[in-house]
Amino acid sequence: MELKKFIRDIPDFPEKGIIFRDITPLLKDAEAFKFSIDSLSEKLKDIDFDIIVAPEARGFIFGGALSYKLNKGLVPVRKPGKLPYKVISEKYSLEYGEAELQMHIDAISKGQKVIIFDDVLATGGTALSLKKLVEKSGGEVVAMSFLIELSYLNPRKILSNDKIISLIVY
Ligand code: 5GP
Repeated sequence: MELKKFIRDIPDFPEKGIIFRDITPLLKDAEAFKFSIDSLSEKLKDIDFDIIVAPEARGFIFGGALSYKLNKGLVPVRKPGKLPYKVISEKYSLEYGEAELQMHIDAISKGQKVIIFDDVLATGGTALSLKKLVEKSGGEVVAMSFLIELSYLNPRKILSNDKIISLIVY
């Protein structure tokens, strides 16, 4: 299935000069969404790992479905002030501005093997900060996976030692 036809390009969102890849047309199409989850699961199923770590908000949508499909737990990573228990934090820079992510302090156990999942890999800043959160907790990132990789932003440069698995590449 040609998934790119379910991704809508929005020029100048959220800022001038950024082309935002809108995944909502893919989500509302039952077959395209199912095909995306099935294809990602197929790519991840032979990796030895314990748990998926995914950031809000779009990471939850795919991370949740993949966790269910691959029979693994899910750790939600959120923007500041959202998680109810003690957190660890990581500040990072986005394609468009600064941000901070938090994870519960006890979400990952020492030695757990983690797959990071997010909808879009752009500059790689978010993925790198997710990795730092996992490593602060004593976990090991065995792979990072994305629905979409924007290769023209060179995210693999700052993630040079990581195994990256993307479904759709621009
Ligand atoms: P990065 O940190 O790699 O620059 O940006 C990735 C993060 O920003 C992801 O959490 C992703 O959801 C969001 N993001 C950046 N660009 C886009 C885009 O074009 N489309 C969507 N859907 N999300 C984006």
